[in-house]
Amino acid sequence: MANISTYDFAGKKAIVRVDFNVPLQDGKITDDTRIKGALPTLKLILEKGGALIIMSHMGKPKGKVKPELSLSQIVDAVSAALGTPVKFAPDCANASEAAAALKPGEVLMLENLRYYPEEEGKPVGIDKEDPAYEEAKKAMKASQKEFAKKLASYADCYVMDAFGTAHRKHASTAVIADYFGADDKMLGLLMEKEVAAVDAVLGNIKRPFIAIMGGSKVSSKIGIIENLLGKVDKLILCGGMTYTFAKAHGGNIGQSICEPDKLDVALGVEELAKKNGVELVLAPDAICGDAFSNDANQKICPANDIPEGWEGMDAGPEAQKNFAAAIKGCKTILWNGPAGVFEFDNFCAGSRAIGEAIAEATAEGAFSLIGGGDSVACVNKFGLADKVSYISTGGGALLEAIEGKVLPGVAAIRG
Ligand code: AMP
Repeated sequence: MANISTYDFAGKKAIVRVDFNVPLQDGKITDDTRIKGALPTLKLILEKGGALIIMSHMGKPKGKVKPELSLSQIVDAVSAALGTPVKFAPDCANASEAAAALKPGEVLMLENLRYYPEEEGKPVGIDKEDPAYEEAKKAMKASQKEFAKKLASYADCYVMDAFGTAHRKHASTAVIADYFGADDKMLGLLMEKEVAAVDAVLGNIKRPFIAIMGGSKVSSKIGIIENLLGKVDKLILCGGMTYTFAKAHGGNIGQSICEPDKLDVALGVEELAKKNGVELVLAPDAICGDAFSNDANQKICPANDIPEGWEGMDAGPEAQKNFAAAIKGCKTILWNGPAGVFEFDNFCAGSRAIGEAIAEATAEGAFSLIGGGDSVACVNKFGLADKVSYISTGGGALLEAIEGKVLPGVAAIRG
């Protein structure tokens, strides 16, 4: 594989997969972190005399043209960020002429890759149970290759810099790499940093190692939780999943978020933690609200004794103390998912307590890795972004990498 820092881009066209799936409101970007994240790679290629073909997905158009998910909406912002005009190809699979016309220093951005079902490579409009599904899948894989080959034909080299989608084997994140020689495909600077951050956690774990997993549901994180139970010394489980654990022990949880069909999963996690000698930290109390609103009335209750009409919306004061105490003194820290409905200022104290404890431990020498949109938003909200070791742009990709899975987007380049 080639290396972006030593590769000679002069006179070459580079097709770069970035993650420009930025949040938009009325056509305006509300958070440009992802654009900023890709800039070092894009600027480096231009500085070295290359021409850029930028490709990304936006949202989930599921193989259909959806104007509200058009990347044309962010062309001006990308131009401003790069400090150079960006041309736009309104059909990513028919951009040969526009690509061929590019001169060194020029930039072309392709329309949303996911307007084509070939990008994700999943058959559309056919149920998995349908007997014809397997045939449809095979046909789609063949057209995915054609689609990837077409994208590859625009350029001399391929740069993969979309960590957020590196866990997907899509046309632009992995399949395309087959159409470039080993010397003409490489990871971008953001990908290199992300992969190094994961290596820093997994390759050289300094103990104690603590993971803090929050968010709304246990079901979406069970794979990583079980995996982490084989690696960490301590595990804090917080956020909405607290109440599935409380319910599993027969507690009263009022209107709190809960997955009643996952009670056995919760008990299984506790069992595995015990078996592996992992200290499992759950919230003993909760800040409850009488409505799912920032202005709801508040009451502090034991997490397993929440009255009807109330719901647990944040970690209680006792829980906050316990979380901070568990984090203190740890040398490796991974945080994914908030401890409560942090979007509401009145219910963000638990997430803040975790963020501050991580910042303190980091100041005392811990390596802290924060990943997943919501925990990153927490760290930013509390002004702690420069007090943690590394903020990952990947949610699912980061967790899969931490699980020890090889990401298709990395494997495609490294072989
Ligand atoms: P996830 O996407 O699973 O990581 O969950 C993130 C979301 O979980 C955030 O939007 C939080 O507002 C939400 N969340 C965290 N704690 C709770 C809770 N106790 N009740 C309802 N939602 C919660």
